[in-house]
Amino acid sequence: MKSVIFLVLIMTVFCAKVHAQAGKWQEEKTTHFIIHYQGAVQDFIRSLSEKAEEYYNSIADNLGFIRFNFWLWDNRAHIYVYDDAAGYHEATGQPEWSAGAAMPGYKAIYTYANAQDFFATVLPHEMGHIIFREFVGFNNSAVPIWLEEGVASYQMQIRRGAADAFVKNSITNNTFMNIETLSDMNPLMMSDKEKVNLFYLETVSILDFLMKEHGRESFVLFCQNLRDKKNFNRAIASAYPYENTVQLNQAWQESLKK
Ligand SMILES: [Zn+2]
Repeated sequence: MKSVIFLVLIMTVFCAKVHAQAGKWQEEKTTHFIIHYQGAVQDFIRSLSEKAEEYYNSIADNLGFIRFNFWLWDNRAHIYVYDDAAGYHEATGQPEWSAGAAMPGYKAIYTYANAQDFFATVLPHEMGHIIFREFVGFNNSAVPIWLEEGVASYQMQIRRGAADAFVKNSITNNTFMNIETLSDMNPLMMSDKEKVNLFYLETVSILDFLMKEHGRESFVLFCQNLRDKKNFNRAIASAYPYENTVQLNQAWQESLKK
């Protein structure tokens, strides 16, 4: 049943432009965010303001990123809160299991009021997408989907705590997928929900391995190289003692056996 629970928490990045309908929306402005909402109750909007501001700092800290581009005034991020799941799905065209989505290039997050575990899952995940992309480049095709989803999901404590045990179990069950396999996958194109779930948990496990084994400074260097070199293997080799995906994969799998 665990996997079913995780599936509900899966969120996506999407690229289609969503237009908020004029007139239906109210606004709440904080230092770094403009929250657009319809009929959501004030308590929810107040909690959202507080949590978003908290994650604004803690996610960058988690990744070791030092901010140079502050989300102030006209540069604030936008959060659109639909009244319910139906309104959200209709407007965004997201799959039925999605509870939130980000458009990093627009610094926009879409969700609905009281989405399940919103503050612990959807919000940090989607903010993770934006903060990561802002650092490595919005149009950087060298960033594999597994890495980006890993960075976003790594912001969710609930996933981080459960990932390794789940992945170890997948090795025993022979369902484990190595990084090469993950590199060919896009969860949005997959219908096997068990596989999608494993995809997300493996990406968190890899991120967790990189952070615990090599620390945040190496991760920042890796991201800088990814941004500048726009080549995944060269970025890995310049920040870690691995020359490529294959060696990273070996080290990660070794760590899972410990
Ligand atoms: Zn995502």
